[in-house]
Amino acid sequence: MFRKVLIANRGEIALRVHRACQEMGIRTVAVHSTADATAMHVRLADESVCIGPPAARDSYLNVAAILSAASITGAEAIHPGYGFLSENANFAEMVEAHGFTFIGPTAEHIRMMGDKIAAKQAMMSLGVPLVPGSDGELSSLEEAREVAERIKYPVLIKAAAGGGGRGMKVAQGPEELEEAWRVARTEAKAAFGNDAVYMEKYLDRPRHIELQVMADMHGNVVHFGERDCSLQRRHQKLVEEAGSPALTPAEREAIGAQVTQGLSKLGYRNAGTLEFLWQDGQFSFIEMNTRLQVEHPVTEMVCGVDLVKEQLRVAAGEKLGYTQADVSFSGHAIECRITAEDPETFAPSPGRVTTFHAPGGLGVRVDSALYSGYSVPPHYDSLVAKLVVHGKTRAEAIGRMRRALSEMVVDGIRTTLPLHQRIMDDAQFQSGDYTIHWLERFVGLKD
Ligand code: ADP
Repeated sequence: MFRKVLIANRGEIALRVHRACQEMGIRTVAVHSTADATAMHVRLADESVCIGPPAARDSYLNVAAILSAASITGAEAIHPGYGFLSENANFAEMVEAHGFTFIGPTAEHIRMMGDKIAAKQAMMSLGVPLVPGSDGELSSLEEAREVAERIKYPVLIKAAAGGGGRGMKVAQGPEELEEAWRVARTEAKAAFGNDAVYMEKYLDRPRHIELQVMADMHGNVVHFGERDCSLQRRHQKLVEEAGSPALTPAEREAIGAQVTQGLSKLGYRNAGTLEFLWQDGQFSFIEMNTRLQVEHPVTEMVCGVDLVKEQLRVAAGEKLGYTQADVSFSGHAIECRITAEDPETFAPSPGRVTTFHAPGGLGVRVDSALYSGYSVPPHYDSLVAKLVVHGKTRAEAIGRMRRALSEMVVDGIRTTLPLHQRIMDDAQFQSGDYTIHWLERFVGLKD
């Protein structure tokens, strides 16, 4: 096992990785920007190195500074967390070229899945079902028209390099296609430096259901069941559940078997998530994330597994040491993403947290880097806490989340806590009958 790991991230996920390392007797190195000198991940880590000024491109995306930090501290491996460099194949390659272990998949698989067109082709060849759409990149507006006529409107134009819901535009009918084509490509070029786009049928009432997988370097792959991440605003997840209120154990088993067989054939290693849209009992693959996800704790709660420890173990070359038959699911878990944003306008609300009080009690977990007196810097993602609960049943988990939300205090900045309270109090959310469009109607973005 590694003796020292560098955590190339900040905020709650840096703490999350630190905690797993600490429990395994691994020393940790935090890296931080000048804006994060007093951050909790820096306080808790065994060592820390300042890697640059506040802007992420100069610090958390600064590959040379991160590799130097690993070198001078004698770290053996680098955990990228999520976001920042976690899905950057060049970074994974450079980490390994400098003699460190990258805690994640191979650069080749990161690159393959980072190109959503290549990812879909790979999944198709492994027999995983896809959303109907173009066979790869659209070469022209004319081709887009032809594909749209074939698969029928509404259609979605998506960026091949997409992420974070950017570069994605719907065309309800032929009259909207040219605009969608133009805007998606412009957005994709601006956000990813790559204007390649493809087309998918726009499903009208799907759920977003994703499957957590873990693979070692010896061909063993298991899945840890699904997460339902249908509660989204602007294609960004706000609330996640494990398991999905819509899926039966038999459906989970069937898609799980297909996916684990496919990934084993591919030689995939470490953690990964396959994202699907699910409608009328049909799964359609949309993308694969080759990293730990924000919402991984709900899976940990129902499976009783520490996914970061598993990542560390398989990165060090250990075998999984268990099979699918050993993975079991118990109860229900829900996560609320608490962000430093106005709960109605979603305007960012960085600043000083005067009081922070985390809820507690049976079945409650808070992953957060907040503390009283901490200033949330304006430079980074607005996620400040993940409130996660576990209950024997979904109803118990909802009751527990309502109770935990009412105990939680984040004073000094605005947060989405009141919105989460409204969601948990809502009868339709409680019924479990919702799709990816539900939340936007709920917050009044759509009628
Ligand atoms: P990103 O990588 O930008 O997050 P995804 O492909 O994962 O993009 O899609 C994000 C979200 O957009 C999905 O969870 C879903 O809500 C919506 N979406 C994506 N593809 C479709 C589709 N074909 N039909 C309907 N909604 C879609």
